[in-house]
Amino acid sequence: MLETLKEEVCEQNLELPRNRLVVGSGGNVSGRDAQTGHVVIKPSGVKFSKLKPEHMVVLDIDGTVIEGEMKPSVDAGIHLYLYRHRDDLGGIAHTHSPYATSFAARGEAIPAVLTPITHILGRDVPCSRYATPGEVDTGEAILEAAEGGMAVLVKAHGVFTMGKSATEAATIAAYLEEAAMTTHLAMLRGPVEALPDEEIARCYAWFRQNYGQTGRDSPSS
Ligand SMILES: [Zn+2]
Repeated sequence: MLETLKEEVCEQNLELPRNRLVVGSGGNVSGRDAQTGHVVIKPSGVKFSKLKPEHMVVLDIDGTVIEGEMKPSVDAGIHLYLYRHRDDLGGIAHTHSPYATSFAARGEAIPAVLTPITHILGRDVPCSRYATPGEVDTGEAILEAAEGGMAVLVKAHGVFTMGKSATEAATIAAYLEEAAMTTHLAMLRGPVEALPDEEIARCYAWFRQNYGQTGRDSPSS
């Protein structure tokens, strides 16, 4: 079941190591099927180099395994918590990508100082409060910090990005890490200046009207 979504979720999990966002088997991407509401996620503890679409685990929204031989990602509960509370989400990615996570280690947001990432997110990348690992506390902390946005740092942990699809969530994770690295390098040479709120709003609206071939593409199209 959900073969197309399994292929997409597998492919987007493989994008994480290609973009140097993860090591070993850390990090995960999931996608939600709009019709059934079922969630497809990476299995727990399987190295990316071994990952195939048939390894993906299908869960219902309460976490019952509907299909799959393996245990789902240890972070599946966090993904499900977010899907239960955000109807707009069709995909979630989680990484410990180093530059973004260095901001999370300090409990700091990544300021909106660069237009390319601001086009995509329409704001800074907020950092949540510290959350005990596990689905409820981490899920709540992400929801609180996100305020409806698509990217959050979890203090002392890592990065969660969200999107309309698994592809969009994983793509945002890659752009976010690039922005975190560039912002970090700039901050080494002195203070950086966040874009004014009205310019952030203008950037976000302009990108949505003009990016891609249709004028309505997302960065992952
Ligand atoms: Zn993690």
